[in-house]
Amino acid sequence: MDRRIVVLGAGESGTGAAVLAKKQGFDIFVSDSGKIKDTYKEILNNYEIDWEEGRHTERHILNATEIIKSPGISEKSDIVLAIRKKGIRVISEIEFAGRYTQAKKICITGSNGKTTTTTLIHHMLRKAGMNAGLAGNVGKSFAMQVATENYEYYVIELSSFQLDGMFEFKADIAILLNITPDHLDRYDYDLQNYVNSKFRISQNLGEDDFFVYCSDDEITIRELERIVTKAKQLGFTLKETRQQGAYVEGDTMKIEVDDDMFEMSLAELALKGKHNTYNSMAAGITGSVLKIRKPIIRESLMDFTGVEHRLEKFIRVHGIDFINDSKATNVNSTWYALESMTSPVVWIAGGTDKGNDYAELMDLVKQKVKALVCLGVDNSKLHKAFDGIIPAIVDTSSMKEAVQAAYRLGKKDDTVLLSPCCASFDLFENYEDRGRQFKMYVREL
Ligand code: ADP
Repeated sequence: MDRRIVVLGAGESGTGAAVLAKKQGFDIFVSDSGKIKDTYKEILNNYEIDWEEGRHTERHILNATEIIKSPGISEKSDIVLAIRKKGIRVISEIEFAGRYTQAKKICITGSNGKTTTTTLIHHMLRKAGMNAGLAGNVGKSFAMQVATENYEYYVIELSSFQLDGMFEFKADIAILLNITPDHLDRYDYDLQNYVNSKFRISQNLGEDDFFVYCSDDEITIRELERIVTKAKQLGFTLKETRQQGAYVEGDTMKIEVDDDMFEMSLAELALKGKHNTYNSMAAGITGSVLKIRKPIIRESLMDFTGVEHRLEKFIRVHGIDFINDSKATNVNSTWYALESMTSPVVWIAGGTDKGNDYAELMDLVKQKVKALVCLGVDNSKLHKAFDGIIPAIVDTSSMKEAVQAAYRLGKKDDTVLLSPCCASFDLFENYEDRGRQFKMYVREL
């Protein structure tokens, strides 16, 4: 059996990879140490793919020629250690699926803004009438779409964990939005390992390909001086003007690619806040590179409605705006949320802290936050950082309590912002659950 593929982890990406492998004629086996969701079991059964759950049986796994590992499974897990010991090649679902499509691939990574930018670019391509799929962490897996659809373009969101399993895969346009410390627990607490992982997005780029990056991002710039890429480089910045790429002059965003100039007033951009200007610039550059007509680029940057749980302004109750930014799971994304606020803020924060340093938020908090509602099992770090700085601080331990407390603290023309700075696992299933509960209790006010 020299064409045996084993998929570890039967979630969205693993199931998609298994279906694609089956269609490509491989001997295929799927193994998940947890319970596989019924919807995925059904797909595996329909395609007559063998699977197991609740364990990893080594004798069915260590005979593989190649392993496709879900990004969620740690390198330190017993099964991966055993696989490494045997020297079996381990790849990600994206690497595998990339072998079986001729489509052009626009790939997006970064510590923050991936989903927003990926969705925005996909929105633009669809508006331009292009036959484009949306893949990666959003929606259906890339592999499943390669197996069952016929797209000419893919817009793919890539996490650092997916990039870690990518070797030969080549993007046509690679976008690196920013790099701030995150997930360091998975990178031996060494920032350089995480940086290397993010920069894998640029590996294999050729002369006709594009590398799009934020030239205000210090970590990116430092690394860019070190690495060699043949690709055409297009930077975006809010701090200076550029020859090629995107920048802001006065109230106008300007994008220059070759001899072509695209201009648009910042006020027209649908997504607000500096961070979103970066995201819009990355999308605008992509549109220009793909030679999408200017009115279409403009229109898509104007009418994009955003993605749920990302600075989502969803309702006004008695003159108070409520914003759901549940996806803000680190200090950097909350910084951008606070930065974009224009009225006094009642801020709901807290959860599972990933080693946060709140000092970075201090200036913005002093300027904008009138009250803090702590929502977590352990709120002591928030108190330590903000006691005596924010005039009112209350502790809550459920979303219902937090929403009611925030409502009591707010008055007309204030904003209640859920931007937790932390992961959600102490009180919620995930950030989506946290955001949905927030919206539900707000709607009950
Ligand atoms: P990701 O997919 O990388 O987690 P999202 O688009 O889901 O990114 O956004 C996550 C959080 O980061 C949200 O709170 C959002 O408002 C914020 N954010 C979005 N774009 C950026 C950016 N370019 N820089 C910093 N924060 C951002």
